[in-house]
Amino acid sequence: GSFEKLPVAGESRDELSQMGLTFNEMIGLLEENYRKQEEFVSNASHELKTPLTVISSYTDLLQRRGSQDPALQEEALTAIRAETERMRQLIEQLLHIARRSQAQMDWRKMDLEPVLSQVVTAMNASYDRQFHLQLSGQPLIVETDVQQLKQLLYILLDNARKYSEDRIDLEAGTDGAVYIKIRDYGVGIPKDALPHVFERFYRVDKARSRETGGFGLGLSLARELADSLRLRLEIDSIERLGTTVTIVFSGDFNVGELQSGQEG
Ligand code: ADP
Repeated sequence: GSFEKLPVAGESRDELSQMGLTFNEMIGLLEENYRKQEEFVSNASHELKTPLTVISSYTDLLQRRGSQDPALQEEALTAIRAETERMRQLIEQLLHIARRSQAQMDWRKMDLEPVLSQVVTAMNASYDRQFHLQLSGQPLIVETDVQQLKQLLYILLDNARKYSEDRIDLEAGTDGAVYIKIRDYGVGIPKDALPHVFERFYRVDKARSRETGGFGLGLSLARELADSLRLRLEIDSIERLGTTVTIVFSGDFNVGELQSGQEG
C-alpha cells in the first residue's frame, strides 16, 4: 500500500520491514488466540446443548403422558436429574477455567509427604477404591502452592479412577528433582491419541466418556495448573495396560533447596 512509496533509506527500510514482520506475527498470534476462544465457546455451548436436549424432551414427555405412566415418570425424572448434574459439573469446570487467569499463587516451601497423605486419605474416603501411597523415604521438600497442587492431584487421581478398575498407585520420590507418579492399570490411551489428551474438550472415546462423565477438560486444566506451578507433566500409557502420569518439580529452586536440605 502507501507505505511502499515512503522514501526510506536502506537501513530504515530494513527496520521498517522488520517491524512489519513483528507486527504480522503479533496479528497472527492474536488471531490464533481469538480463534481458540471462539472454538472454546462453541465447544462449551455444544456440550451444554446435549443435556438440555435430553431434559427438554423428557419434560415434554412428562407433560403429555407423565400422569398416566408412573414408569415413564420415574425414567424421565432419573434422566433429568442425571443431565442436570452433568450440566452442573460442566459449568463448574468452565468457571474453574475462567477463574484460573486470576488465580494468585501462594508459594510456600514444604514437605510433600503430609500433602500426599491427605490427598490419598480423601480419595480413599470418597471412593470405594484403593489408592496406595508409596514414598521413597527421602524428604520431599518443594516450593509450591499447596491448594493448586492438590487440585492438580485430584484431577489426575480422578482420571486414574475413571479409566481403571484396579488399584491406583501414587508414588513420590526424588531423582535429581522431586517427582510424583500416578499410576493406574486401566484401559490406557491409544498411541495416536496421546498427543491430544491435553487439548480442551478432547476425549479418546466420546461414548465411553459420556458414561464416566468426562468433558475432556480435566487434563487441559491439569496442564494449566502444572504451568503455573512450574511443574513438568509427562504422560505414558499403554492401551489395556494402564497409564502413568509423572509430575516433575523441575524448577531450579527445588533442586537447590533439596541439595542444601540434604547437606544440613
Ligand atoms: P475427561 O474429563 O473426559 O476425563 P480429560 O481431559 O481429563 O477429560 O482427559 C482427556 C481424555 O484422555 C479422556 O477422555 C480419556 O479418554 C483420556 N484419559 C485421561 N486420563 C486417562 C487415564 N488415566 N487412563 C485412560 N485414559 C485417560
